[in-house]
Amino acid sequence: MRMAAFEAFACDRCKCLAVRPLSRCRRCEASTVLSTNLSGRGTLTSFTTIRVPPTVFLGQEPYDIAVIDLDEGLRVTARLTVPEEREAMIGDPVIFHEMRPYGPVFRLV
Ligand SMILES: [Zn+2]
Repeated sequence: MRMAAFEAFACDRCKCLAVRPLSRCRRCEASTVLSTNLSGRGTLTSFTTIRVPPTVFLGQEPYDIAVIDLDEGLRVTARLTVPEEREAMIGDPVIFHEMRPYGPVFRLV
């Protein structure tokens, strides 16, 4: 099973995490925010199936969008891949699969 690190950004002073690079930490306003690799492991907090997508994603429907709480405490919104024989449930463990132009993709463990 392939494991991919999930890139996030951490304040050098207070270690506060962010999904995107920031010029200043949102908590302590330090100006050094560094790239960091997280485990990519997390928990499914909520999800919904998109059947009528925005124009840019036409042809990809249906697809699942999930809110995931990473083990390190960061909350991310991502695509969720669910194998055909499985059904996603709130609380399921998920793992980062890959980064796509539209954002991260996680899958059920
Ligand atoms: Zn900070």
